[in-house]
Amino acid sequence: MTCSENMNLIFLGPPGAGKGTQAKIISRKYSIPQVSTGDILRSAVRESTPMGIRAKEYMDSGALVPDEVVIGIVEERLQQPDCEKGFILDGFPRTVGQADSLARLLEGFGKRIDHVVSISVDDEELLKRISGRRTCEKCGKGYHLIFDPPKDPAVCDACGSALFQRDDDKEETMRKRLVEYNSKTAPLIQYYSEKSLLRVVAGIGSIEDICDNIIKTIDGCRCDNP
Ligand code: ADP
Ligand code: ADP
Ligand code: ZN
Repeated sequence: MTCSENMNLIFLGPPGAGKGTQAKIISRKYSIPQVSTGDILRSAVRESTPMGIRAKEYMDSGALVPDEVVIGIVEERLQQPDCEKGFILDGFPRTVGQADSLARLLEGFGKRIDHVVSISVDDEELLKRISGRRTCEKCGKGYHLIFDPPKDPAVCDACGSALFQRDDDKEETMRKRLVEYNSKTAPLIQYYSEKSLLRVVAGIGSIEDICDNIIKTIDGCRCDNP
């Protein structure tokens, strides 16, 4: 398969596994959009839309937002023209119900998922990653205070805007999110394995090495487009 062919991907993994980091890189390399339900929800919360107001209480407590809310987001997003040539679903689906809905949705569009990339990282490392995570409020670029530090801990290298720590990245909430992951999202590993779509990639090591492994795993495409 070459980089110009359609590629519909799911990035699966616990909070802090590196889904967003890797999705951004793969999105650039393959010229397909990153569809992050977390990012879409956070922007709805910032703008205080009815959906954002509804989602906020769940997100603040570390719980998953109800299925029908996120399914609605994805249904709308996947119909936009930039998803024609493929997409990366980052952080969706997160429940078996969402996965079933996605399958029905894609069937209706005459599309299918090519690969589910499952990024595996142990809990101790996840907690370190989430506690040091910082995000640019303007361009959305992610950093880690120790593992991938910005030059100035409060400022984005890429655009000069302020970096913030997500409210749900504080200790209590992140533990709750890991519990939610283990009970509701981890069953998707089995789900996609049974459909022969699961590609497990170890999420430990440098961001570049993990990215290389993802590319090797999905199809050996070595496109070097920036
Ligand atoms: P997710 O989207 O799965 O929640 P992120 O991509 O936001 O995860 O990564 C979580 C944190 O870990 C971020 O601060 C990011 O900079 C950092 N990170 C990502 N990949 C690695 C890696 N391979 N090694 C060390 N830290 C990483
Ligand atoms: P992380 O990068 O740490 O994996 P996300 O940014 O993907 O976290 O999600 C942040 C929060 O947004 C979740 O804890 C949950 O409340 C909500 N959320 C995001 N995606 C989904 C989804 N597919 N289903 C339900 N809730 C979601
Ligand atoms: Zn920025």
